Amino acid sequence: MNLIIVESPTKARTLSRFLGKDYSLEATYGHIKDLPKSTLGVDVEHNFKPEHVVVEKREKEIKRLREQATKADKIYLATDPDREGEAIAKHVEEVIRGQEPEVNKKTKSKLKPLSSNLLIRRIVFHEITKEALEEAIEHPRSVDKNLVNAQIARRVLDRLVGYKLSPLLWKKVRRGLSAGRVQTVTVRLIVEREREIAAFKQEEYWEIYCNLKTQISKLKTEEFIVKLIKFDDKRAEIKNKKEAGIVVFDLEKSDYKIADVIKKEIRKNPYPPFTTSTMAQAAARLYHWSSKKTMSVAQSLYEQGLITYHRTDSTYLAQTAVDKVRKFIEKEYGGQYLPDKARFYKVRSKVAQEAHEAIRPTNIGMTNDKFQMTNGRFVSDAKVLYGLIWKKFVACQMVDSIFDETVINVQAKTTPEVKDLPTSRVYVLRASGQVMKFDGWRKVIPLSKYEEPGLPMVGKDEALDLVKVLSEQKFTEPPPRYNEASLIKTLEKLGIGRPSTYAPTISTIQVRQYVEKDEGKFKPTPVGLTVNDFLIGNFESIFDYQFTAQMEDDLDNVAKGNRKWQEMMGEFYSPFEKKLESVEKKAKRVEIPVEKLGKKCPKCKDGELVVRVGRFGKFVSCSRFPDCDYKEKYLEKIGMKCPDCKKGDVIVKTTKRRRKFYGCSSYPTCKWASWNKPEIKGATEKDKEIKKKTLSKLYAPCND
Ligand SMILES: [Zn+2]
Ligand SMILES: [Zn+2]
Repeated sequence: MNLIIVESPTKARTLSRFLGKDYSLEATYGHIKDLPKSTLGVDVEHNFKPEHVVVEKREKEIKRLREQATKADKIYLATDPDREGEAIAKHVEEVIRGQEPEVNKKTKSKLKPLSSNLLIRRIVFHEITKEALEEAIEHPRSVDKNLVNAQIARRVLDRLVGYKLSPLLWKKVRRGLSAGRVQTVTVRLIVEREREIAAFKQEEYWEIYCNLKTQISKLKTEEFIVKLIKFDDKRAEIKNKKEAGIVVFDLEKSDYKIADVIKKEIRKNPYPPFTTSTMAQAAARLYHWSSKKTMSVAQSLYEQGLITYHRTDSTYLAQTAVDKVRKFIEKEYGGQYLPDKARFYKVRSKVAQEAHEAIRPTNIGMTNDKFQMTNGRFVSDAKVLYGLIWKKFVACQMVDSIFDETVINVQAKTTPEVKDLPTSRVYVLRASGQVMKFDGWRKVIPLSKYEEPGLPMVGKDEALDLVKVLSEQKFTEPPPRYNEASLIKTLEKLGIGRPSTYAPTISTIQVRQYVEKDEGKFKPTPVGLTVNDFLIGNFESIFDYQFTAQMEDDLDNVAKGNRKWQEMMGEFYSPFEKKLESVEKKAKRVEIPVEKLGKKCPKCKDGELVVRVGRFGKFVSCSRFPDCDYKEKYLEKIGMKCPDCKKGDVIVKTTKRRRKFYGCSSYPTCKWASWNKPEIKGATEKDKEIKKKTLSKLYAPCND
């Protein structure tokens, strides 16, 4: 009998479809051994030896694995193809062979003898398909110690940082706080951005547009909008209303003609196939999914055998997959959509992990309309994500899309008969547009509907009539807060974290309430700010971006067998330990600022009312808490009346899953609610329309 062991029951079920009667399957349900929950579990005196104990609730699985193992001649460890999977494989082998007495005691299972010629082998595949499985069974190996060591090193490193820093935070800031190595650096990014925004000085500037008219036939005219870009050969920089007024006055008294029309052809490459990072970014941008959600949907697709492994930073594609998609493109769309040669994508990250592939569908014939999942719970989400992955992969092997770009430069000169003009400048205004003439890969990922207005056919020196001059006051904007997509992008760019860590990191810092999402964007909470300042102030070198990236590189080197993990740990730990001691002694206690309401507590009549942040959002309590337990609902107003009933105030509320939304203070009488902050009326609809037409970009957010 052959026994195949995987970590998830869904994966086991998918594999069982390809296997004959001489195979049986078992699932570990994740890690079976890990560091202990309540103690450090790392012997720092003895080369950082980790103490792995049986994970609570996994005793049953271990017992079953052992029973099944006694019936087997061959055992294949088929856990996921990465460091975590490798570590699980190692632990499974250990418990089957019954190597540790403490595990035996804990699981209370008497070891039955294993078959004397039992073989335990590790197999690895990146997609759960029959071919991949057969291929893997033909090339089994033993558990890779280096990969396991890299997993141990990450676990131990994070454990040391978390376990040593938390008590310090309890003592110096507030009980219950915790710190993490990568999490802290991620919070730091968000805090620093918030401070950049706060320090930003906005500057006024003005943009000027002309609505012009051209005679396209005897009876017909066509209007188009040009933007002022130059006057007297200098870039048009208009700082204030007065300057804008002068220009508008000039332009209203000017003659207009076409200075030149420039046409050129532009080719656009498709984007590379998805990695974990680009997939999470696309789902965040297009569907506002959190990376946690994207990863969980991807996990189900992978486990059902529909896509390749979803934790990867590689854009590499297997030759067989490329051959198949090329055939598909030719058959489905025609030869003109197929490039002469297959496209290859450079692997972007410095060290792509463990020779993974990009994320792609396992069966290109499984188009979205044929898509069905055996597990029906999240069919629609799964279908959405599968569709993205499928399109991205097909498009990445198609020909360029081709555009005709037209740039029209218009010259405006004040009419000679008008006297007493403040200036007599020559203005250059511009309109540009692109028209797609061959769709190429855009056949599969169409341009969004947001296309630029077409430009009229005009010739050099042609005279134009002015319809209207439009001026618009603007202000320079601070860098935007991070959203899910830009945060992952930045983490990847800085080399902080890896495909397996983006989603858990971003989720953890929200669960710990160091940051919160405001209209889909991250901002630090008062607790987050305080903890950040304390940690960065005292452990700057540990939570340095470059240092964190270096640690990730070191872990990669451990995985490749180029570095001893204990050595890496030693280099990290001794300076860290020294620092810990001195901070423990020297650092002063810090206070988390609370918002004061300026009212006395109605209960004890002594304390002051303050706003605190709890698990379900903000609430009002007494400053003497825990001595006084006065608690009240907090209504966070945004200074606006309800757009529906016009009586209540718009207030900030939080869902059970801690997502922020806006509601009416007269709830439940008025049911008005919105995810987005209601806009304050100001700009007229027409202004908005003109602006949209003029400034709309042809290139929709492109990673779609
Ligand atoms: Zn009180
Ligand atoms: Zn209302």
